[in-house]
Amino acid sequence: MTANFSARALEPDIDQPLILALPKGRILEQVGPLLARAGIVPDPDYADESSRRLRFPTEDPMLDVVRVRAFDVATFVAFGAAQIGICGSDVLAEFDYPEVYAPLDLGIAKCRISVAEPTETAGTEDPTRWSQVRVASKYPNTARRHFASRGIQAEVVHLSGAMELAPGLGISRVIVDLVDSGRTLKANGLVETEVIAEVSSRLIVNRTALKTRPEAIGGLIARIRAAVS
Ligand code: ADP
Ligand code: MG
Repeated sequence: MTANFSARALEPDIDQPLILALPKGRILEQVGPLLARAGIVPDPDYADESSRRLRFPTEDPMLDVVRVRAFDVATFVAFGAAQIGICGSDVLAEFDYPEVYAPLDLGIAKCRISVAEPTETAGTEDPTRWSQVRVASKYPNTARRHFASRGIQAEVVHLSGAMELAPGLGISRVIVDLVDSGRTLKANGLVETEVIAEVSSRLIVNRTALKTRPEAIGGLIARIRAAVS
């Protein structure tokens, strides 16, 4: 999908603060020290996930932070609602927004996106001979692309959580999901059969905003790049 409609959000409001979209959850826990090293100091309320506020000032009057769902960060940036953001490469690959530029791997929240299936069925068939497969996933595009590249047509059942239940309850033969330690899979009788991609968090930027506010956004990218290395 494209996000370059003529919205007010895409007008260059160069006297307005830049907006940095940050995800709740796992990435939020790991991104704090990186922001601090980059000299980005959000209002303390930002780290309090029980706070109901969604937009926070930082010590820099020209930079505000919004806290959104990890899956929505790329969408906020694609539509120019936030000029810059941090999100997992899993989310970037799933949406594949042309308007989003990802200049920097932050090396945090590392995991992988993999195919998994019940321990009992794993190895009983040669998956390269499948012509189609039913998959449960929060990543329908990624799952479809992966199987298509092997000549397999994936029928994806889109779930937003608890995919580990799907094979056992007859929804799908396999799942496509994030794996870190593999403990969640194991606890649900599943085994990882194929790694689709390694995942880490990326700094992302709205391409139009980068053109209209190159100094401000370029400066932020440089500070965050220095904080990573
Ligand atoms: P949600 O469950 O709301 O989608 P999470 O905090 O579980 O949010 O995941 C958000 C992002 O964190 C994912 O898109 C991914 O990039 C990263 N992530 C998720 N699970 C893991 C994990 N097990 N290890 C490392 N990073 C992860
Ligand atoms: Mg999660």
